[in-house]
Amino acid sequence: MFKKIYKEIKKYNTIVIARHIGVDPDALASQLALKESIKLTFPNKKVYAVGNGSSKFSYMGRLDKIEDFEDFLLIVLDTPDKRRIDYKDYNKASMIVKIDHHPFIEEFSSLEYIDDKASSTCEILMEFLLKTKLKCNEEITKLLYYGLVSDSNRFLFDSSTSKTFSLVSTYLAKYPLKLSTIYTNLYLRPLKEVRLEGYISLNMKVTENGVGYIILTNDIISKFKADSASAGNMINNFNFIDEILVWIIVTEDLKNNNVRVNIRSRGPEINKIAEKYNGGGHAMASGARLSSLEEAESLISDIDYATEIYLKKVMNNNENK
Ligand code: AMP
Repeated sequence: MFKKIYKEIKKYNTIVIARHIGVDPDALASQLALKESIKLTFPNKKVYAVGNGSSKFSYMGRLDKIEDFEDFLLIVLDTPDKRRIDYKDYNKASMIVKIDHHPFIEEFSSLEYIDDKASSTCEILMEFLLKTKLKCNEEITKLLYYGLVSDSNRFLFDSSTSKTFSLVSTYLAKYPLKLSTIYTNLYLRPLKEVRLEGYISLNMKVTENGVGYIILTNDIISKFKADSASAGNMINNFNFIDEILVWIIVTEDLKNNNVRVNIRSRGPEINKIAEKYNGGGHAMASGARLSSLEEAESLISDIDYATEIYLKKVMNNNENK
């Protein structure tokens, strides 16, 4: 499969690399890393990384302003379904390739490489570069490491396997990175965000089944002078709380006229529930976009019910042992 994708890359002079809406480090880093690698290997090709960026990740590099492309290969990274591609002209591509690590949702190209066991799309690209003639350098390694470390939550998720560590080891042996700089770029944040995190810890409600949730209205976010994405970006900071099995941050986003939801679980699978609410993601890490705060109440209640069922199953299993 990697060889087939490499052949397509070799064939086209214009290559556009897209990823999912709601940019995150794995999506962006995989896009920029693949672009650099293709340019390093084939200096005469025109390669564009497209989509809406975020100033928060400017240390990774810049995206390209969209032009009207002709006869181009579109590579869609880290995106399981068409509706989430952050590039509206995907239908104009001569050929589409998908590379993703999300659970399968739909086929939108004739050449799809999906490994939902991979920690990140960057991990897949690490393997892809090693198994083809695509070149690498320190800058590309750094980008791939940014994405992998972010999506594996610093190797804390079960998605970090011996393969993940082996790939990281291979790359770091060849291109030693200054890890402290990497982590400063990824994790340095303003005090106002830490204060908002304190607010979430103090005000999070917890149901009897261990679902922790907070609803942040625009007024609360404004009080902390934070932006609507910042609370959701903290979701992984609530990973190891004894009383909480599933946790949800709901944030009103007046600018985009919707409501952001970030969900994480140590118990029941949550992505199918997220899909019911214009969302999706991984079994234990999902997100959704709602049209109102009222809808959030319904989502929370669905998640709470799923958690109740999960707990009952665990109890039954323990009794039968
Ligand atoms: P986040 O909470 O934003 O870090 O997202 C966790 C996972 O859920 C990632 O794999 C996202 O791609 C996915 N995700 C987030 N929001 C949505 C959405 N509205 N629709 C589908 N997948 C989503």
